[in-house]
Amino acid sequence: MVDNKISIELMSKSQNEGFARVAVAAFISQLDPTVEELTDVKTAVSEAVTNSIIHGYENKKEGIIKIEASITGNEITISIEDSGKGIKDVEQAMEPLYTSKPELERSGMGFTVMETFMDSLEVKSEDGKGTKVVMKKKFNTVS
Ligand code: ATP
Ligand code: MG
Repeated sequence: MVDNKISIELMSKSQNEGFARVAVAAFISQLDPTVEELTDVKTAVSEAVTNSIIHGYENKKEGIIKIEASITGNEITISIEDSGKGIKDVEQAMEPLYTSKPELERSGMGFTVMETFMDSLEVKSEDGKGTKVVMKKKFNTVS
């Protein structure tokens, strides 16, 4: 019972991170979100896309990042998928402050931010094959 859906593919370039954030924000604006809800979703999308660029594709390969967003009633589902290096230990990766790139001054808070700003977060990953992040959030719209 999906009411509306979009799908976007981006090259894994940091210039496209802003586009992804704004595209998803534009799509969900039809739910009449509050400024806070919109900011929460943009931040979560930004974290996931940045992860695909810097970790999944390690800033080098020109990989493809696929973003899907759908609306069902007042709930949005956003999935962000890469075919990059994947995560060996997802549980460890999701721990607050865990980062595999401390030398890049990452804080290891990306997944924690996604979890905090969205209602749910699911991370599926296979070593060497890629990573898919699925996030959901219900909006407090009246309509
Ligand atoms: P921060 O997001 O605070 O800058 P970070 O990216 O290291 O730091 P998280 O976003 O929480 O922290 O991710 C934790 C770890 O999970 C990363 O350091 C990386 O090892 C792994 N990871 C996350 N996303 C991906 C991905 N798409 N592909 C491969 N590894 C990933
Ligand atoms: Mg991160």
